[in-house]
Amino acid sequence: MTLKKRRLAGAVCAVFVMAMLFSCVFIVVEKHHDCTRDEHCPVCRTIVESTDFLSHAGMAMLLLAALMYIARMTYGYGAVHGPFVCTVGTLVREKVRLND
Ligand SMILES: [Zn+2]
Repeated sequence: MTLKKRRLAGAVCAVFVMAMLFSCVFIVVEKHHDCTRDEHCPVCRTIVESTDFLSHAGMAMLLLAALMYIARMTYGYGAVHGPFVCTVGTLVREKVRLND
C-alpha cells in the first residue's frame, strides 16, 4: 500500500470516527430534550439520524471485521496487509528453498 493510499485511508478512518464521536456527543447532550414541536423538531430529527448512523456504522464495522477474519483464515496468518488488501504468499515471499 502506497503512502498516498495510507494517508487517504487514515483520513477516511478519522472522518468516520469523528462522525461517530459527534453523533454520540449530540445524543448525550440532547438526552433531556424537551420537545415543544411535535413533527418538525430539528433536534429530534437529528437524534433519530444520529441513532440510525450509529446502528448502521456498528453493523458495517461488524461486517468488515467478519470479512477481515474470513480473508485471514483463507489466505493465512499475516497475509492481510491493510484493509481490503489480501495477497497470497509466493514461494519467493515465503522464502521457500527449492532443492532440485
Ligand atoms: Zn424535539
